[in-house]
Amino acid sequence: MLNIVLFGPPGAGKGTQSKKLRSDYGLVHISTGELFRKHIIEGTSIGIQVQEYIAEGMLVPDEITLLMIEEQILAYYKDCKGFLFDGFPRTVAQAQALDRKLEEYNSSLSLVLSLDVPREELHRRIKKRGLEENRIDDQDESSVLTRFDLYNSETLPVKTYYENQGKFIKISGIDHIDLVLEKIKEIVDRFIIENSPR
Ligand code: AMP
Repeated sequence: MLNIVLFGPPGAGKGTQSKKLRSDYGLVHISTGELFRKHIIEGTSIGIQVQEYIAEGMLVPDEITLLMIEEQILAYYKDCKGFLFDGFPRTVAQAQALDRKLEEYNSSLSLVLSLDVPREELHRRIKKRGLEENRIDDQDESSVLTRFDLYNSETLPVKTYYENQGKFIKISGIDHIDLVLEKIKEIVDRFIIENSPR
């Protein structure tokens, strides 16, 4: 299986790149943010539990997030070539749980690709997305600031976790969408060649 994490702060372009990558490599795209938003729209019990966290820019508790991830992996692992995780893991506990879960399926994480974008550009993109996609958490300045604070305190340690595994690769995410995609694909293609059975 080819299992990829797209890593980076809010507004780095993880969602945009995931949508392009998933079809190219036949991967199942798991965006925790998108899944939560769907639960909220459908008014499920998960949706009711998470809506306040999301509106305020807080992290949803790991128990809820991990349960949802487990369900997704269980539902799709048989028929897919791998998973593309977007916006997950966001804590070291989530990263550890993901490693354990993939191991249960005799699989593991292949690559963690981190999109690097300067802070001012992230703010510009989030503002634009807030209007275009009508995302309340993107429109509320205090929610945006909370998300950046939590990215620094809770999510950045995940980078060290994957660096220690030799899986973390930084990519400049400031260029045009197609150029960023090209760079990502170069890295993924190289990984596939280097890890295919001879
Ligand atoms: P995103 O669409 O990735 O920007 O996520 C939107 C919101 O969903 C975040 O600000 C969090 O409130 C919540 N969320 C998404 N993914 C996670 C995660 N892996 N762990 C905890 N909360 C998450």
